[in-house]
Amino acid sequence: MSRVHLHDLDFELFIPEAEVNEAVTRVAAELSAKYAGKRPLFVGVLNGSFFFAAELLKRLTIECEITFVKVASYHGTSSTGKVTDLIGFNERIEGRDVVILEDIVDTGNTIVHILDLLRDRHPASISIATLLFKPDAYKQHVAIDHVAIRIPNDFVVGSGLDHNGLGRNLPGIYRIIPNGQ
Ligand code: 5GP
Repeated sequence: MSRVHLHDLDFELFIPEAEVNEAVTRVAAELSAKYAGKRPLFVGVLNGSFFFAAELLKRLTIECEITFVKVASYHGTSSTGKVTDLIGFNERIEGRDVVILEDIVDTGNTIVHILDLLRDRHPASISIATLLFKPDAYKQHVAIDHVAIRIPNDFVVGSGLDHNGLGRNLPGIYRIIPNGQ
């Protein structure tokens, strides 16, 4: 499937599934080396990170735990940067090595807000791993420690990312086709 129609928008295949898998395998190797002998707690940011979390964790060679957190931050096809608190997150992370898992880092507003909220709970360390990163859209100064794939500033779906609820199940990454093309 090289082209899909979701609600009002058309998308074309941009990064095939095999390439996504390769990138996730590379990040898994980085994290397995970094946390060898430790037992990190992965915190997946819902909804979009479920795909990355599953694909990443099955490739890790270390002991680890996973939990998920929900925040509200995004509507439509451009980032609003408005983040509310962590919803229903009761995990004790004091003294733990925490790795935040994101589907995509765009302006970075969401991840910085999550970082602040998690730091308040005194983990031993926090790092960030993301499936996709848009360097041209990034407005923050926090380093994104582990990036699977860097992409241009286009709206994308697939591999966990949606357009108003649709497209999360698409294997690979699909890029928006501007109207009329
Ligand atoms: P940020 O706060 O970094 O600007 O945005 C992060 C959130 O915006 C992501 O977790 C994701 O929900 C959403 N987002 C940003 N860019 C895209 C995109 O290209 N496609 C989709 N589906 N969501 C995006």
